[in-house]
Amino acid sequence: MSCLTYLSIGSNRGDRLGYLKYSVERLRLILKSLAFSRIYETDPVYYLEQPKFLNAVVSGYFSGTPYELLNKTQEIEDSTGRNRSTSISRGPRTLDIDIVLFGNKVIKSSLLTVPHPGLKERKFVLLPLLELNPVLKDPATNTKLWELLIKLENQGIYLYNTHGK
Ligand code: AMP
Repeated sequence: MSCLTYLSIGSNRGDRLGYLKYSVERLRLILKSLAFSRIYETDPVYYLEQPKFLNAVVSGYFSGTPYELLNKTQEIEDSTGRNRSTSISRGPRTLDIDIVLFGNKVIKSSLLTVPHPGLKERKFVLLPLLELNPVLKDPATNTKLWELLIKLENQGIYLYNTHGK
């Protein structure tokens, strides 16, 4: 059985747009009926002394467990030369892929938290997510995601024009 999953993808190091496109092509090989949001350019949150990010959300059906999906997404991150052991936590990265939603599953383990803990506080996740599916809810609380979005303060998120890039 396959499960509809939503992944947040982001990059703020090197060829940001190239890394996002690369991740979509890799994800196309493991997700069925792949769809992707528009791309947003966003100011960094948490660790502020770093370049702006490009962010988007990708959805598709995955046949396997959430942990199998995590292995695959980490493999894709690693193939961009991202070095987990030396990189600053929440610092610049070539490619970051987070599992935001995995069907209606709620998971809290040492390896995986789903829905992703950043979901409720990050406009750069909520906005593209709602673009793909405006009626999504947080499966942990049953709260409508658009209700969470409108409560957030301005976070410096701008539509990224990819024409000619
Ligand atoms: P990051 O530095 O943001 O890529 O965090 C990577 C770590 O977060 C990995 O070791 C994962 O095991 C853990 N993690 C927990 N929940 C998630 C999730 N929903 N999606 C991706 N990574 C997760």
